[in-house]
Formats: sequence, structure tokens, C-alpha cells
Amino acid sequence: MELTIFDIKGFALHDGPGIRTTVFCKGCPLRCLWCHNPEGLSPKRQLCVKEAACLHCGKCRVPCSHPDCQPWGRCLHICPAGCISVAGEKIEAEHLAEKLIADRDVFAMSGGGVTFSGGEPLLQWDVVQECALLLHDAGIHTAMETCGYASCEAFRRTVLAMDYVIMDIKLADPVLHKRYTGVYNGRILENFRFLQHCGKPYLIRTPLIPGITDTDENLTAIRELIGDSAWEQLPYNTLAGAKYPNFGMTYGMEET
Ligand code: SF4
Ligand code: SF4
Repeated sequence: MELTIFDIKGFALHDGPGIRTTVFCKGCPLRCLWCHNPEGLSPKRQLCVKEAACLHCGKCRVPCSHPDCQPWGRCLHICPAGCISVAGEKIEAEHLAEKLIADRDVFAMSGGGVTFSGGEPLLQWDVVQECALLLHDAGIHTAMETCGYASCEAFRRTVLAMDYVIMDIKLADPVLHKRYTGVYNGRILENFRFLQHCGKPYLIRTPLIPGITDTDENLTAIRELIGDSAWEQLPYNTLAGAKYPNFGMTYGMEET
């Protein structure tokens, strides 16, 4: 089976224990206003044009004969400023696992491994699970970063295929959750209760978004929900909106 990803980053230090390689899966069911990965939202491949660096020379608009350029109506290979690329690549689970296993020594030395992130890895849970099991067979530690919004089956089966889970709980109030992420949090909290009792090590994360998730009321309510679970609060990424114009999209926090 094929996984659609938009990046693979080596030497990641904040996506689980040790030195890790993080695989960014494409597609997410949420639309958090503060999301810093616009290329992770759609499950489809997308044209990326770095407008800020564009020289407006028009060369990419001259028709070319490269087969890979045809779907985009722009030449991907001629830009003198390197502004054009496509976000999203399909890769066979087996091929991906082979690539990741190549760093086995780095993982072993540092107590690290591979983390599936996104986007939302559970949107492609069957392929993620397949790849995680292949890594496991090779003795590699696996982790997943998830928003937790998935069917019970997808969540449970994928969690059980991982060694470690990092799960976001962003807002305790269901109405505010819907307002700021696009979905209610009932399914997320139900999945969290499974995680809490399934025996896998896990970490809860909350991004501190000014005036939205960082209120005393929200943080107190999250602590009540998660009990004594390990909890990390992440500072707001002030550069989060920078990539949106490259995809012809508008950053949600600019509209609040
Ligand atoms: S070729 Fe590059 S610099 Fe020229 S118009 Fe296209 S994106 Fe802009
Ligand atoms: S869950 Fe994560 S990837 Fe999905 S929209 Fe929210 S911040 Fe972005």
C-alpha cells in the first residue's frame, strides 16, 4: 500500500525519545486556525509557489513537455529562483520502511526511532500501521503524533502498533473545539480514554495559542480531563502563517 507524505525529516529531537526521523503524512481532518503546516491539510498533492521569492519572470508559464509538469499547468523545472515544487509524494510502505531502516544505527545509539506525524497519520492508518510493523520487525522504536480524531478502530489498532504516542488535546470545551479546529472533541476524548488505559507510554500536548487554548479555564479543564498523564505545553509558533501564501491559502489566525 502507498502512503502520501509531504516530508521526511531526520535528526528530529522533539518528536519522541532520542534522535528520530519524522515522517509527515499528508491530510488532516482538523482545520486548526493556528496550523503551521498548510501543506499537511489536504490529502492531495499540491503545487507550492514561493511567492515571496518569485521574480515574476514568467518562465514557468511557458508550456513545456515534461510529463510531471502537465497536471500543474506550470513548468516545475525552469524556475531560476527555485520557487516551484510539489508538496506530496506517494511511497510504498515497504520502500519507506527500507529508507527509514537505513538509519537504524543512529536510532540505536540515541534510543530514538521513527515518528509518524502530519497532517494526521491516522487518516492513512492502515498504511502507517503496515510501515510501523515493518520497522518493528527491524527492531526500530516507533511513535505517532496524532490529533486523536479518528474512528475507534483506526485509533486503537494504530496505537497498539506503536511504542509511543504523542496526542494533542487542544481545547476541553466542545463548542470552542469546534469553533477553532472545525470538529467537536467527543471522538478525541473517547480515543484519549483508550490511550490512557491501554498500557502504551504516551504524552499529551497542548499548543498554547494566545486567547484560545492558553486560558486558565482551558488549561485547568484539560488537566482535569487527563488526570496525571504526562503533559507538555508548546509555545505558539509566531512564524506559523509564513507558508500559507505558497499554497494560495489564508492563515486562519490572520482572520481572528
Ligand atoms: S519561473 Fe519562478 S521566478 Fe519566474 S515567474 Fe515562475 S515562479 Fe516566479
Ligand atoms: S491537527 Fe495539527 S495538522 Fe491538523 S490542522 Fe490541527 S495543527 Fe494542523
